[in-house]
Amino acid sequence: MFEKIPHSNRLFVVAGPCSAESYAQMETVASRLSANPKIALVRCGVWKPRTRPGGFEGAGEEALKWMADLKNKFPALRFATEVAQPFHVELALRYGVDVLWIGARTSGNPFSISELAESLRGTHVPVMVKSPMVPDLKLWVGAIERLRHAGLSDLAAVHRGFCTNSGTSLRNDPCWEIPIELRRLFPDLPILCDPSHLGGSREMVRPLSQMAINLAFDGLMVECHPNPDEALTDAAQQLSLDELESMLALLSLRDKSHHATADLQLYRDQITSLDGELIRILADRMDLCRKIAEVKNSANMPIYQPRQWDNKLRSCLSQARHFSLDEDFVSDIFQRIHLQSIKVQEESISPNSDALHNN
Ligand code: PEP
Ligand code: MN
Repeated sequence: MFEKIPHSNRLFVVAGPCSAESYAQMETVASRLSANPKIALVRCGVWKPRTRPGGFEGAGEEALKWMADLKNKFPALRFATEVAQPFHVELALRYGVDVLWIGARTSGNPFSISELAESLRGTHVPVMVKSPMVPDLKLWVGAIERLRHAGLSDLAAVHRGFCTNSGTSLRNDPCWEIPIELRRLFPDLPILCDPSHLGGSREMVRPLSQMAINLAFDGLMVECHPNPDEALTDAAQQLSLDELESMLALLSLRDKSHHATADLQLYRDQITSLDGELIRILADRMDLCRKIAEVKNSANMPIYQPRQWDNKLRSCLSQARHFSLDEDFVSDIFQRIHLQSIKVQEESISPNSDALHNN
């Protein structure tokens, strides 16, 4: 990933403070990170997107001067910052910032992305695109495509979680299925995980980082600060420089080049045959739903039978408990099957009802 950014490790690690706050803070970070061969890139926010006005909104151009100075002092270090507007791009490139990233509040806005893409045209600077605030894979893909159409080829995605109403205890909802699908659609696009904004707390950075490695992510973007409790932004989630080092040392890296062993192939074959059975069972089940639809229709009954469904779900959950299956998982699957059954019943008694269903 990012051919222009040398990195020795199997994991592309971006680390640094949420915000550049002072020259002294950035110098402490730069000196410590330049001594750590695991770090590929130093991050720091120069223009901070704050939800409400009145807080620290970044040191702006002043911080770019600190970065340029520290690049002279530590020639091996590479720096990244967030850009949200064309004038950010122009200034960041003027001061020699090596990599730019587009934040979550910008990546979901096609107008902003188009403007940024135009300002980046012809630059060939590496760009990281954070996942948008809302769990909409198409918006994330759209941002990447707009940048590609402007001629940028050195791109990476950064998964930072999504705002949902799922009630997760993390700062953002991981919705892992979204980066998993992004990887399936774009197998050659490097994907990093930002465990800091995902978790929102120091404690969650390591487990989320390990989870990302287990899911074959290519790298991490981690916030760290010489004195996290005093940080002007995101104090609760920044690691101290010591914590960053020990966290990275504790991660188990995975060998992505691994080929299937005989054991693995055997289990995979068994799963493939079970999956085939599942599909055949689902097809048989939907055939029965069509028959049921005729019976209900001739008896003038509604398709949805609340008491029957309540009993069915309870009995499925009790069987799930018996087999030590996760009840939420089983509940999700049966709710999905039930909704599909309603759709199939509706279609079999009134063709052309497809548009009434949201799936
Ligand atoms: C950041 O990385 O500093 C940041 C603001 O993150 P996000 O855009 O993911 O909220
Ligand atoms: Mn932050």
